Amino acid sequence: MKKHNFNAGPSILADEVLENAAKAIIDFNGSGLSLLSISHRTKDFDDVMAEADALFREMLDIPENYKIFYIGGGASTFFYEVPANFLGKKAGYVNTGVWAKKAMKEAKRYGEVELLASSEDRNFTYIPKGFAIPSDLDYVHITSNNTIYGTEYHEDLVSPVPLIADMSSDILSRPVDVTKYAMIYGGAQKNLAPAGVAFAIIREDMLDKIVRDLPTMVSFRTHVENGSMFNTPPVFPIYVLKETLKWLKSIGGVPEIYRRNQAKAALLYDEIDRNPLFRGTVDKEDRSLMNICFVMADGYEELAPEFMEAAKSRGIVGIKGHRLVGGFRASCYNALPVESVRVLVECMQEFAAKHAK
Ligand SMILES: *Cc1c(COP(=O)(O)O)cnc(C)c1O
Repeated sequence: MKKHNFNAGPSILADEVLENAAKAIIDFNGSGLSLLSISHRTKDFDDVMAEADALFREMLDIPENYKIFYIGGGASTFFYEVPANFLGKKAGYVNTGVWAKKAMKEAKRYGEVELLASSEDRNFTYIPKGFAIPSDLDYVHITSNNTIYGTEYHEDLVSPVPLIADMSSDILSRPVDVTKYAMIYGGAQKNLAPAGVAFAIIREDMLDKIVRDLPTMVSFRTHVENGSMFNTPPVFPIYVLKETLKWLKSIGGVPEIYRRNQAKAALLYDEIDRNPLFRGTVDKEDRSLMNICFVMADGYEELAPEFMEAAKSRGIVGIKGHRLVGGFRASCYNALPVESVRVLVECMQEFAAKHAK
């Protein structure tokens, strides 16, 4: 049976990306050797890095004075590397859930953390707005899409100090004005690649703002100056990331994927709002395009396991909500086709026809 993959991460990648990745594992560029068995210091792999860089820049309109680099690890690696590099005295953090909290916890090891705003009072079901950002902070940190709760910033924050964003789960899903950010980072396993690599887009002048002497591998300068090749980079995830960028370009780039993502999200949110058996869990204006959370409506709670079974019988995979939220979470990342969302919506409609009181 065809599977409809709503996994939250690692998550769906385009079929042709997986096919090209499989081919490269067997025979990379017709060399008779696997991508996994050659030196990263070869012309062929240099080309992979250069192509990834050029495509990333093209897809997100990244200006010249920004550098892209990759590290082995995940977004969680950046949770401590960002403050290690930039937190001298005090940084501001916005607490929008689990990932933001984990970032704050690491930052506290390096300096003072000022909590600028939080949505914890309502279990992170909204994005705080209209808070002041003091000008004496080293930087401000936000989580642009909250994968677990299904909230997302739909407007770039205006900040008088360098703005740093964890965009693990919405990178390349929508247009972003990169110039509003001093640094954007994330794990690649939500929208770009398999697990094992994290990316960063950093404004060059930030490298002059590194506040302490750091281990070589922790300093962002090392990775920028060595083109992510100070040590062996995660060659396979980077290759797949490059293939994903190629695929994204081939379908029309960020404007087209944004159009598709909006259409997918509208389809599912409309059904959640219309269907008497389900309800959304977050404020409408802050709803994520990527992670769509919903629960059984009041009076129908006991039907949740039966709905999971109904979904499973249609090949729907990965919609169990995070344990902190419960209910369901349909992650609709870039590579998820609209057909999969239609199957889920039909499943919800049939379920309602069978059970509505
Ligand atoms: C998944 C996720 C993380 C954690 O990423 P790792 O690569 O596993 O460290 C951090 N932030 C956000 C927003 C995420 O979605």
